[in-house]
Amino acid sequence: MIEDRAPRARQLLEKCDLDAVVFFDPSNIRYLCGFTGTDGALVITRESDCFLTDSRYTTQARQQVAADQIREYRVKIDGIVSLLRELGLRRIGFEAETLPYAQAEKLREKGSPDLSWDPVGEGVLSLRGAKGPSEIDAVLEATRISAEAFEEILPLVRPGAVEKEIALALEFAMKRRGGEEKAFDFIVASGIRGALPHGIASEKVIGAGELVTLDFGTRFAGYHSDETVTVAVGEVSPRLREIFDTVLRAHDLAIDRVRPGMALREIDSVARGHIADRGYGEYFGHGLGHGVGLEVHEYPTVSPCSEAVAEEGMIITVEPGIYIPELGGVRIEDMILVTADGCRPLTRIPKTFRTLPA
Ligand code: ZN
Ligand code: ZN
Repeated sequence: MIEDRAPRARQLLEKCDLDAVVFFDPSNIRYLCGFTGTDGALVITRESDCFLTDSRYTTQARQQVAADQIREYRVKIDGIVSLLRELGLRRIGFEAETLPYAQAEKLREKGSPDLSWDPVGEGVLSLRGAKGPSEIDAVLEATRISAEAFEEILPLVRPGAVEKEIALALEFAMKRRGGEEKAFDFIVASGIRGALPHGIASEKVIGAGELVTLDFGTRFAGYHSDETVTVAVGEVSPRLREIFDTVLRAHDLAIDRVRPGMALREIDSVARGHIADRGYGEYFGHGLGHGVGLEVHEYPTVSPCSEAVAEEGMIITVEPGIYIPELGGVRIEDMILVTADGCRPLTRIPKTFRTLPA
């Protein structure tokens, strides 16, 4: 097991009164034992851990996996169940949030009658919540690649440019700098398309006097960046400028308040409250942010329904937005690291109002 992650996984067994947890989720498996392939299972008991995979991945597993034992199976569920029986284990946890229903049913069926299966929710999700130094370094490298690529392609954001071309140039610039893969389909939403919070780059041509929202990120050593910049192409209307200033202020106020121990829903409410005070409450429908790590969206969520509390080491986004149908929209997003006494930004692109030449 990767050092310092084993004790936390074992605490989970104690807390939930389980003999073992079986991990299927590739990101959890990578986090706990280092395997970067896409098919396998990791069984963690109170005494030991065993990684199981099929013949396609055995060689890779021997090179990558830090576990007491590596086993090969022909049929995944059978391999897991027979290992659990050999070890004489009875109460087994599984990842409630990500294991497909059909697989959970099969486990129950094959494990009957001696094995009992307990869904483990928040406990598993929160394992990856607080990041360690090597994880933070990987994120910082991803944000550096993103920022450099963004500055390189910014001159392309001008009247007459097609949103999709900009997204493509950005993806290319990131890969050339060592980005492993785009973190998601980039959003390039100009003019009235800015009112779509998920306005994936389209064939729309950018016009003068429009705001353009770009939401993008890359992956480095498995870890993601996620950042949103809204820029003006030429002079924009006073209304759009007012919306921009409102979103930026909401973003700044929320970031100022982050510290360990603060409920994440309270951080959300700082930004949401400011936007509502300015009369735009109905135009900010999504949560304020989310955790980022091995997955671009992961635990915890930062929203009015969040149950989680900010912990030192958590990496979360702060991304308020205002989206007005038929007019346009603004979103501004940074990634922050919760520190012992507050937080610090991990993304690097300045978010102050920028006007590009029209
Ligand atoms: Zn984003
Ligand atoms: Zn995001």
